[in-house]
Amino acid sequence: MRIEKAERLKKLPPYLFAKIDKAKREAQNEGRDIIDLGVGDPDQPTPSHIVDKLHQAAGEPANQHYALDQGMRDLRVAIASWYRKRFNVELDADKEILPLIGSKEGLAHLPLALINPNDVVLIPEPCYPPYRSATIFAGGRPKYLPLLEEKGFLPQLDKINFRILAKAKLLFLNYPNNPTAAVAESDFFARAVKFARKNKILIAQDAAYSEITFDNYTAPSILQIKGAKDLAVEFHSLSKTYNMTGWRVGWVCGNRDIIAHLTQLKSNIDSGIFQAIQVAAICALNTGPKHLDSLRKLYQDRRDVLCAGLNSLGWKVDKPRATFYVWARLPKKYSDSIKFARLLLDKANVIATPGVGFGPSGNNYIRFALTVPRERLEQASAKIKEII
Ligand SMILES: *Cc1c(COP(=O)(O)O)cnc(C)c1O
Repeated sequence: MRIEKAERLKKLPPYLFAKIDKAKREAQNEGRDIIDLGVGDPDQPTPSHIVDKLHQAAGEPANQHYALDQGMRDLRVAIASWYRKRFNVELDADKEILPLIGSKEGLAHLPLALINPNDVVLIPEPCYPPYRSATIFAGGRPKYLPLLEEKGFLPQLDKINFRILAKAKLLFLNYPNNPTAAVAESDFFARAVKFARKNKILIAQDAAYSEITFDNYTAPSILQIKGAKDLAVEFHSLSKTYNMTGWRVGWVCGNRDIIAHLTQLKSNIDSGIFQAIQVAAICALNTGPKHLDSLRKLYQDRRDVLCAGLNSLGWKVDKPRATFYVWARLPKKYSDSIKFARLLLDKANVIATPGVGFGPSGNNYIRFALTVPRERLEQASAKIKEII
């Protein structure tokens, strides 16, 4: 019997990262020393005080049951307190915060809670792929907003056709941005909130990299904009901030109706986050400033090494002010990001992600992740020299 997949799955583009992974394994099986700057998964360990907390909490029988759908109150209170300190924004721990099984989980479920068939969802591209797949799963219609370098990789909201606007229900934003590493200042968030209010559109701002910032840049929150809570939510994650990608914990906060709808949806799908992980998440949020200071220094140093290396080859790349990615326009003689990534692997033993994997406007770019030691980044640019 041939088992067909559902139409909604057939509508998705092929998952590029699976292909890259396969190519990487093949190269490694040939015994080649591959420098993997592909996936954005921190190489550093979770700080040990957080791991210790998990050990202890996992052994407590009270933490071994089904968790509450809306998360432990102590965790929501810890998130509210972190938000107050970090952004000077007040959040109601009972109504305006929802812990998530990683922010990807919440981002992927959000359209199912808000979108009706044929509602338009505004999705900047290149982008983190779940915005698009989640929209398709919910039966929504993606309207892609190209992010252009000359516009600072910010979507041009005033260029959207009025017929599209009339059907648009949700706008995804992601700053600091993956994959472009662009940042948004408060004035952009203020314009986005004004635009959304005027056109009756909700905003989901993904702030997964809000703490991975350099050169004394501090990322704003969209919830700092007056009236943002009327229509916006912001997604946060412990994954990048505390090297906890495998733990699966994050949260969404902001508009209480959106939070309530997502909570209802999720209560039909999952049964909360393992409580021991929630206890460890509280511990993570109470981590002192030293951890982030050194994490930022680490990535900033790697950024400087890779950018200096590539620039010394005559490949002009800008230093990002946030995230652990370098988003580089392809060298002049290349125009196809998949072909270029293939060449990088075949000729330089370097894995990087072709920009087109994040959307058509990314096809002239390649994304390097700074998730390897600086020596490897030095080696990478030395090897890349061969193909520039
Ligand atoms: C890594 C990442 C996330 C999500 O991480 P979780 O591990 O699911 O919390 C969300 N958005 C972007 C843009 C990311 O790069």
